[in-house]
Amino acid sequence: MVLDADIKAQLNQYLQLLEGDVLIKVSAGSDAVSKDMLALVDELATMSSRIKVEQATLPRTPSFSVNRVGEDTGVTFAGIPLGHEFTSLVLALLQVSGRAPKVEQNVIDQIKNISGEYHFESYISLSCHNCPDVVQALNLMSILNPGITHTMIDGAAYKAEAESKNVMAVPTVYLNGEFFSSGRMTIEDILGKLGSAPDASDFADKAPYDVLVVGGGPAGASAAIYAARKGIRTGIVAERFGGQVLDTVGIENFISVKYTEGAKLAASLEEHVKEYGIDVMKSQRAKRLEKRDFIEVELENGAVLKSKTVILSTGARWRNVGVPGEEEFKNKGVAYCPHCDGPLFAGKHVAVIGGGNSGIEAAIDLAGIASHVTVLEFMPELKADAVLQDRLYSLPNVTVLKNVQTKEITGTDKVNGISYIERDTGTVQHIELDGVFVQIGLVPNTDWLGDTVERNRIGEIVVNSHGATNVPGVFAAGDCTNSPYKQIIISMGSGANAALGAFDYLIRN
Ligand SMILES: Cc1cc2nc3c(=O)[nH]c(=O)nc-3n(C[C@H](O)[C@H](O)[C@H](O)COP(=O)(O)OP(=O)(O)OC[C@H]3O[C@@H](n4cnc5c(N)ncnc54)[C@H](O)[C@@H]3O)c2cc1C
Repeated sequence: MVLDADIKAQLNQYLQLLEGDVLIKVSAGSDAVSKDMLALVDELATMSSRIKVEQATLPRTPSFSVNRVGEDTGVTFAGIPLGHEFTSLVLALLQVSGRAPKVEQNVIDQIKNISGEYHFESYISLSCHNCPDVVQALNLMSILNPGITHTMIDGAAYKAEAESKNVMAVPTVYLNGEFFSSGRMTIEDILGKLGSAPDASDFADKAPYDVLVVGGGPAGASAAIYAARKGIRTGIVAERFGGQVLDTVGIENFISVKYTEGAKLAASLEEHVKEYGIDVMKSQRAKRLEKRDFIEVELENGAVLKSKTVILSTGARWRNVGVPGEEEFKNKGVAYCPHCDGPLFAGKHVAVIGGGNSGIEAAIDLAGIASHVTVLEFMPELKADAVLQDRLYSLPNVTVLKNVQTKEITGTDKVNGISYIERDTGTVQHIELDGVFVQIGLVPNTDWLGDTVERNRIGEIVVNSHGATNVPGVFAAGDCTNSPYKQIIISMGSGANAALGAFDYLIRN
């Protein structure tokens, strides 16, 4: 049996929601994955009379496609979509059966209006929490537009194919046989990359806002909800709705919720924001802020949004180590997300740069997958919590190098080693390895503000107890500010604080 009792119970509920018949075409051989795949699709067919299974020859074996009866959709799974891809399987079945997707009508229209042939292939791993968004977006596009197809390929089941394409980070997407993208993308991002994103003219008739929030992480979502609940005109512009939460797997300190996962929390944030009449502008990046009669925020596409107050909540991003080779080998062995890309380094030697909590957590995680993990820490001692260090030092396949400075990440078409300087002697050393995970903290997303608002030495926006910056009407919240601690619950609190501060400002002015 491929499905355990829990998953089967969940599936049973979902399959009740099928609206029409679904035909699964399965291409199977005699290998172990094929056998599991056949068992899975047969089990699906026994669970719903709406699902029929047919043997077929598809371009990849093992794989199966999910179709309407009499019409192929182009949605194919090469590998078994369990783990993080279980939801992708459920959604594909429901949407192919005719159930409406939870996507705005304008996005559906954009997808339907795409003309031409687009054949996507996405390489994923079942433990990657960034992959389902991409898989589900491409599946939906295939279901809605007959010119689009998508095959999800599990890198573990198709190891040789993934290696031949040098796939070293997931998700990696190919379009019509050419590299298209790497990393998490929303459906709006994909549409943007295909050239069908909204342009400045789509924003031209927007009336000024009372509160415009820039950034859609926990701080921005909280600020927008608090503002909208005052009954004032509120907008939110976000490059990646959900923010860093999207890069997080388990969350155990979101008080009152014992355990949740980043993707789930991000989806709840968006759902909550959409409960109010907030103008949500996703996959849009702000590039300029200026105070004139109104406060103006210019987007990358040239649109200018006007508002009486603005709340900046642009958060933070992974810090780059800034050595030769890092940029060149990004996604070719240089990685930032151990949960996502770890499985691609199974049985290989990897380095982790950074001996703080995130670096040591990553090293412990990777030690269970890779053959060997070398940790490089700049300072003479690791900075991670003692409990993490104890766990690390108990592992047999980890080497810790302290007081060393990374000099270069070397490689040809992909990473083949790392050079570092022993800081006490100045000696340069080189280790041959296959991957480098950079885990040296975060940098605030505030460069685009230039000198318009006061920032501290490390670029954080300086705010007072009301969340106000030095510019009247401009507030800030969350990880982009000089708040000493960076956590989800703290960001949400400061988002609420800044929204109340902005409301107070509006009534007084
Ligand atoms: C791997 C990892 C694990 C973590 N685990 C936990 C945990 O277990 N518990 C916990 O409490 N915290 C955790 N954190 C920290 C937590 O995620 C952050 O403190 C929190 O997300 C900060 O929220 P924020 O809204 O301030 O910023 P972010 O989450 O960074 O969101 C910023 C938002 O602004 C957008 N943005 C950025 N620049 C622009 C621009 N120019 N224009 C438009 N939009 C822009 C981004 O796309 C995003 O929508 C973790 C962080 C990471 C990276």
